[in-house]
Amino acid sequence: MKKATCKQLAGACDEIITGNTPEEMAENSKKHAMENMNDEAHQQAMQAMMKMSEEEQQNWYKNFVDSFDSLEDA
Ligand SMILES: [Zn+2]
Repeated sequence: MKKATCKQLAGACDEIITGNTPEEMAENSKKHAMENMNDEAHQQAMQAMMKMSEEEQQNWYKNFVDSFDSLEDA
């Protein structure tokens, strides 16, 4: 299992997000953001993500998948 901070995943805090696969980590990151939607920093991070074009989002996700193996083990 790998770990990354919320911030490393385009979020807003230092909470640790874990996952066995990039998909799982992205899902956990989304869940964490949803749970913190009353926090302004997380709202802004989510909005910044939504503002990206589909291509930008895909590029971001591709980079995330490519760097997944180099993340720290949880
Ligand atoms: Zn967070």
